[in-house]
Amino acid sequence: MPIIETKNLTYIYGQGTPFEKVAVEDVSISIEKGEFVGVIGHTGSGKSTLIQTLNGLIRPTSGQVLLDGKDIWAEPKKIRSVRFRVGMVFQYPEYQLFEETVLKDIMFGPKNMGLSDDEARARAYEAARFTDLKEELLEKSPFELSGGEKRRAAIAGVIAMDPEVLILDEPTAGLDPRGRDVLLSQIGQYHRERGNTVLLVSHSMEDIGRTADRLLVMSGGHKQYLAPTREVFSHGEELEKMGLRVPQITKIMQELIKLGVPADPATLTVEGA
Ligand code: ADP
Repeated sequence: MPIIETKNLTYIYGQGTPFEKVAVEDVSISIEKGEFVGVIGHTGSGKSTLIQTLNGLIRPTSGQVLLDGKDIWAEPKKIRSVRFRVGMVFQYPEYQLFEETVLKDIMFGPKNMGLSDDEARARAYEAARFTDLKEELLEKSPFELSGGEKRRAAIAGVIAMDPEVLILDEPTAGLDPRGRDVLLSQIGQYHRERGNTVLLVSHSMEDIGRTADRLLVMSGGHKQYLAPTREVFSHGEELEKMGLRVPQITKIMQELIKLGVPADPATLTVEGA
């Protein structure tokens, strides 16, 4: 059963002005409950615009967004509740930390949803565990944290709302390779343990190739593919034409497959190795 879908979704910035820009055009996608979907595409391909329609932050120019089978704009007054069910981690989310302590920051979302202090605190501790934030950090000011810790605190604030769908827009941008690997494995673990639906936006195939069940590839505002990761990776040449760099290791795997070695380019493993 799909948790989130779009039907012929189009989004135009500045419609009717000289600056009119079609950012997303006629995109229909269907994402199943519990799936981990990577959203990939070159800068300007429409990724951010598309995901912002999914939690009702912006309203499609035409077409629909369905959450659990219901049009999220059927009752515009209830759009706020959609934002709790579809949690969004924006790019560089650490700039949104503003409370006195990290704990208060993580509790902000759950409290805003109407949970009691105790419930919000329990949610915050659990979210801190998922993002591997040590308990002693929770009483510190967010400004005392390192860059990577701030990022994880901001992500914990969204996880603490226990969204049915968690969307992360380039969550590893600006992190060093170790910080990137740690964060990606934490998101993978959150997905496995919780079983919630995750959409992870990235322009790096390496980042999402290992964790995503399926990839949505955007190009020029259009959906190019929404298919299992392995299948998308098999379109190496088309992806490179869209400016997407296929990981070197995947190319090697594809060569091995041509030679008859049983290998999986999506998980980057050689069977039996
Ligand atoms: P991506 O996330 O893949 O980089 P975006 O959704 O941000 O892509 O952008 C898609 C297109 O819409 C781009 O051409 C971009 O310049 C344009 N765009 C994005 N935001 C705005 C805006 N606020 N006003 C006008 N055009 C915009």
